[in-house]
Amino acid sequence: MKLNNYVNGNWQESEQATYTAVVNPATGEEIAQVKLSTEEDVNIAVKAAKKAQQEWALVPAPERADYLYEIGSLMKERKEHLAEVLTKEMGKVIEEARGEVQEGIDMAFYMAGEGRRLVGDTVPSELQNKFAMSVRAPVGVVGLITPWNFPIAIASWKSFPAIVAGNTFLWKPATETPLMAYEMALIYEEVGLPAGVANIVFGAGSTVGTAMIEHPDVRVISFTGSTETGRHVAERGGRHLKKVSLEMGGKNAVIVMEDANIDLAVEGILWSAYGTTGQRCTACSRVIVHKDVKEEVENKLLQQMEGLTIGNGLDEKIKVGPVINKKALRKISDYIEIGKEEGAKLLAGGNVLQKEDLKDGHYFEPTLFTDVKWNSRLAQEEIFGPVISLIVVESLEEAIKVNNSVDYGLSSSIYSQDVNKIFQAQRDLDTGIVYVNAGTTGAEIHLPFGGTKGTGNGHRDSGKAALDVFTEWKSIYVDFSGTLQRAQIDNN
Ligand code: NAD
Repeated sequence: MKLNNYVNGNWQESEQATYTAVVNPATGEEIAQVKLSTEEDVNIAVKAAKKAQQEWALVPAPERADYLYEIGSLMKERKEHLAEVLTKEMGKVIEEARGEVQEGIDMAFYMAGEGRRLVGDTVPSELQNKFAMSVRAPVGVVGLITPWNFPIAIASWKSFPAIVAGNTFLWKPATETPLMAYEMALIYEEVGLPAGVANIVFGAGSTVGTAMIEHPDVRVISFTGSTETGRHVAERGGRHLKKVSLEMGGKNAVIVMEDANIDLAVEGILWSAYGTTGQRCTACSRVIVHKDVKEEVENKLLQQMEGLTIGNGLDEKIKVGPVINKKALRKISDYIEIGKEEGAKLLAGGNVLQKEDLKDGHYFEPTLFTDVKWNSRLAQEEIFGPVISLIVVESLEEAIKVNNSVDYGLSSSIYSQDVNKIFQAQRDLDTGIVYVNAGTTGAEIHLPFGGTKGTGNGHRDSGKAALDVFTEWKSIYVDFSGTLQRAQIDNN
């Protein structure tokens, strides 16, 4: 199967195109070939998107929203199929793949509701016979660049607010996971989304991503990916004074206080650290534990880890799937060595799985380090794999300080039964998302998603905050006095 760009409502086939293989990380099998587009392909797509945007912006927002209701309904109808394709291309276990598709469905319906809101302010004027209000105006053509770890949810967070607000988009999915984009294009086609509103251009970040950022008619770049790439995107976009929304890496922690319900905390840690094989931007990769309960937490984690079944995520019994590719296996292995060199104690895991039935896939054992120094590389850098670093502290203040010591600020969590500690923590944890008595993952689509410091640049995906990325505020003053009224002068 060869995946070609979807532009202006058409599948763009080409004799000269080059393709790269899409590989199932659970089996090592090639499941598709995806086009490596050129700058010229981007130019063609932007031209189509720009033309379509002029008409799309004039379609009443409730009518634009009707397309989203239909898109959401088709996603719901195809949920099982979409989840299976997602597991095959990305590797996450089928239960989580269903959850991710559900997130896309929820976002479609939530943003469809915005078609009848898109709320602005109506305020009194300081002058007589004058009316004042603000409305959200579309920005134009927007560029969406997405990573492989949530191929459908993240695209939904970006594309649905973009189109309900009257923009048209170009979406560049990660080359590892283009099949979800292909499936979405089939859905756009089936619901009859007007040609040019949704355009998909496959290919490498360095060519397609760069061409999108450099193109003068792409007014917004909404990017999710690593902090390293995000910085580059911001620098290039900044030169063109583009609005660049960045959602980047994380180094998230669960804090376990001495009064916590330890069984509950252990369950939450396992789910948020080893779910999606640690490849969530919100994955728990540090456990900051009070010294009084350190041993209990370690022992219970080790006990529970024995029950983690590893393998192909299409099998319902499997709890931990593969990581995305060989490069990820190497990166995780490198961090195991770094951890050992830094003096951390390896309690479990630490190896690439070589078992006969798994050897063609990319599997890494769930891993637990303890006695990790808060300022070591193991505790500071994003690993993006199933690795927990346990750090011991003596107080809540120290726990918060350790939590905040990293360059990232996406998600944090605290387990405690003490309302004073909980409220102090939710105030002082420097992250965009805080969980109380739950792990670091599990965001819901109707609240903003994103983080501080190296995780973001002040924008948010998801929730109504996403509309701020895809709209410009327009303030409108209507003077019906029939005279010249000078604000700040005639009324003072
Ligand atoms: P990545 O930065 O390698 O790639 C992300 C996207 O950017 C891909 O589509 C890629 O092709 C593109 N890209 C690469 N180079 C580019 C360039 N020079 N110009 C423009 N685009 C370019 O990230 P990844 O490995 O796909 O994803 C994992 C990372 O994403 C992790 O760091 C993770 O924490 C982060 N992430 C963050 C969030 C969040 O909301 N904060 C969510 C999911 C993933």
